Amino acid sequence: MKLHEYQAKERLAAAGVPVQSGLVAEKVSQIPSILKKLGRGPWVVKAQILSGGRGKAGGIEIVKTPRRAVEAAGRMLGKSLVTAQTGPAGLFVHRVLVCKAVDIEREIYAAVVMDRRAGRPALVVSAGGGVDVETLAAASPEKVLKIAFDPFRGLDRFQARRAALFAGLTGELCVPAVEAFLGLSQTFLSSDALLVEVNPLSVVKGNRLMAVDAKMVVDDNAAFRQKDLFAEGDESCLAPSERRAHKKGLSYIPLDGSIGCLVNGAGLAMATMDLLLLHGGRPSDFLDVGGGAHVDQVTEAFRILLTDKKVKAILVNIFGGIMKGDVIAQGLLDAVKKSGLDRPLVVRLEGNRAEEGRRLLNEAGLRIVAAADLADAAEKVVAASKGNP
Ligand code: GDP
Ligand code: MG
Repeated sequence: MKLHEYQAKERLAAAGVPVQSGLVAEKVSQIPSILKKLGRGPWVVKAQILSGGRGKAGGIEIVKTPRRAVEAAGRMLGKSLVTAQTGPAGLFVHRVLVCKAVDIEREIYAAVVMDRRAGRPALVVSAGGGVDVETLAAASPEKVLKIAFDPFRGLDRFQARRAALFAGLTGELCVPAVEAFLGLSQTFLSSDALLVEVNPLSVVKGNRLMAVDAKMVVDDNAAFRQKDLFAEGDESCLAPSERRAHKKGLSYIPLDGSIGCLVNGAGLAMATMDLLLLHGGRPSDFLDVGGGAHVDQVTEAFRILLTDKKVKAILVNIFGGIMKGDVIAQGLLDAVKKSGLDRPLVVRLEGNRAEEGRRLLNEAGLRIVAAADLADAAEKVVAASKGNP
């Protein structure tokens, strides 16, 4: 789950990381009173969407007068913002964060990430902030420092000091930098985060450090012990189909192809997508109904696929393990009847009682193509998606 900038900054501030003072507005009419509370300008008005790249897309505006602040908020609130990271539909702006603008002298990149290769969290810093760190790491790896640390001990002070020196935060900036990096790692660990990123961490006028932007991703598997964080979670920024899928416990990620995939198990879902690509098709989604899917989950999964106009054909790829093939087939038939299928459907059913399942599908008299195996299924659904029966 991603957190908004203002939510991430609250967490960081609680861990002792200096952030700009700021307040959140949902309506333009709230702006004047927020400006009064913040005190003298200039201010910065920031669209709160669960994506970066706002600065280059008109989602960050520095304003000098209250009128300009109101105008900037009016341009952002209640509209979609398209950035290099959102995809063409953009993300709807429900809130803006208004901060007292700071005078930035230098921008540093700082993050704590889950380093899967090291199997540990790692602090990542670079003296070049405000940049796309992946691009920088690929082009000039010597400009990025990564320090893996023990998840139980947390980041050590000597490690934080090494990072500070690497980022050029020396002299009177060294101690605040060490505290900021320790705060970042504490926030990461105490929130069960997968990412805490401050880009930029800025040196501002008066030789002070300040987290100007913040991004946080919390591990969904920690929802059971991060109840407060997840209660704050903002699903309004997800596409409606993603929200519906989450509600039913389906793993669903929309993609840009034309073949709807309904699969049980993430591994099989990945293999299915590979096979579609191999046969010249493109998946419109990653939809995993899980190992023990119920009929209502399958029905909802169908509905989600059918509301997507990009979907030209649907492939159901289910491996019956604990679930029996005939039970799955019956579930599929119920789901198809309930949701009113209007596009070609190819089903590949394998495993426990698959034969009985296939017979049920063939006898149902619906326009369902039962595939002999996975390659056959991929071939048939790719053909169907291109209008060839
Ligand atoms: P992002 O584009 O979504 O990453 O949003 P950021 O919060 O990082 O803002 C983009 C850029 O705007 C930053 O990298 C800064 O250069 C600039 N910016 C944001 N807030 C301030 C501010 O208070 N003062 C100044 N001078 N620049 C700011
Ligand atoms: Mg940023």
